[in-house]
Amino acid sequence: MQISREATWVADYDVIVAGGGVAGVAAAVTAKRMGKRTLLIEKTIGLGGLATNGLINLFVPMCNGRGVQIIKGMAEELLRLSVKYGYDTLPDAWKNGEPGMGETSRYITRFSAPIFTLALTEFVRNEGVDLLFDTVITTPVMKGNVCLGLVVENKTGCEFYGAKMVIDTTGDADVIFRAGVPTIQGQNYHTYFPKSVTLESCKKAAETEDMSKLYGNIYSGGRATLYGKNQPEGKPARGGTTVEDVTEYIIENHIECLENIKKDDRWKRTIVTLPTMPQFRTTRHIAGDYTLQTEDAYKHFEDSIAAICDFDRRDYLYEVPYRTLVRSGFPNLITAGRSAAAEGYAWDVLRVIPPAIITGQAAGAACSLALDAQVDICHVDIGRLQKTLEEQNVMIHFDDDLIPEEEMMDVYAGAEGHI
Ligand SMILES: Cc1cc2nc3c(=O)[nH]c(=O)nc-3n(C[C@H](O)[C@H](O)[C@H](O)COP(=O)(O)OP(=O)(O)OC[C@H]3O[C@@H](n4cnc5c(N)ncnc54)[C@H](O)[C@@H]3O)c2cc1C
Repeated sequence: MQISREATWVADYDVIVAGGGVAGVAAAVTAKRMGKRTLLIEKTIGLGGLATNGLINLFVPMCNGRGVQIIKGMAEELLRLSVKYGYDTLPDAWKNGEPGMGETSRYITRFSAPIFTLALTEFVRNEGVDLLFDTVITTPVMKGNVCLGLVVENKTGCEFYGAKMVIDTTGDADVIFRAGVPTIQGQNYHTYFPKSVTLESCKKAAETEDMSKLYGNIYSGGRATLYGKNQPEGKPARGGTTVEDVTEYIIENHIECLENIKKDDRWKRTIVTLPTMPQFRTTRHIAGDYTLQTEDAYKHFEDSIAAICDFDRRDYLYEVPYRTLVRSGFPNLITAGRSAAAEGYAWDVLRVIPPAIITGQAAGAACSLALDAQVDICHVDIGRLQKTLEEQNVMIHFDDDLIPEEEMMDVYAGAEGHI
């Protein structure tokens, strides 16, 4: 049985950004700053994605572990925004900017997820980006490989928004997948961390006058790490791209979390926030024109759109090729954030919050330049894109002086090891 619905045309945009996680916010604000009529569509009622609704409230290090900042641009702007109205856990050395070579504390901070959500709304509104909350993108409308716009569902009904360029920052590559762009399915271990408080943690926060000590991952569902440590025996990994998978993951974790909380005195603890999106690290990513590989560390790429650093290993550096965001043959579709093309350890490094923001910024800038030059998104003038991003304070190529001697490589200077 085929069921079809009529969608009402609402408006046309230069750029539509699909999904308001950190990558989507960066993409939308960048396109708007470059003069493009931009719409950001988010299915929940808060921006930030995993970083806020998913309660992943940790900006991993943006430095090389020796006092040199690598990831800058919009990532720097959003890190500062994440702690502007709430607590931070920034090391003193980084409070006022880059300390310089020799500093070993890392440029990393925790932030209040709900306050960051509020700050992102203010930011996007002040930047003049049009925003739709509570709106699920259902279908990209395609003419061949060209995306004409997106069908959405929301309180108003079934609507259509036309677009010249579409940036898929759904985190799950939902839009490009449905548009026919080849994608790769990921697998996820069993992880579910709400934020909880106990009388003890409240006491600690009060004694130290430090709100960052108030709550933590005390009660949880699954506690599997990035590498599958603590994965229950026999439990299969989840792809996270079917409704059955998502529903079963939520049911299992809710029940498991409840069992854990039942063990303690109900007057002495509570959960303050549940994640409102599944804590899946990787669902789907683009089979891009290039896939960043583990062995690409320390390699320069002619089409680099940013240098990035590792959160665990000091000195470990990558450059992100523009080709990880696009697929030839699809002239107005691009992705960014955790759906960029990477595998192995390079994927670990590329998907986290600061690199997700930087690829979002690059996608927003690329769409704007493609529209100005009236070219296919895959044929953007890379030199111009790099210059534009540099003007926006992005480091495109790392300095070879930052590459460590062979015996210094692999020094562990981790964020937390479990992300
Ligand atoms: C358990 C876990 C721990 C992690 N730990 C860390 C950490 O400590 N530090 C760190 O830096 N990174 C960490 N990460 C990774 C990091 O949180 C994410 O990779 C990053 O936040 C991804 O950002 P994004 O914008 O690409 O995607 P997401 O945050 O996934 O944003 C996608 C957005 O799109 C919206 N969306 C999806 N589909 C639709 C649709 N059809 N219509 C409309 N909107 C839609 C979603 O609601 C969401 O807002 C962790 C991830 C997990 C799962």
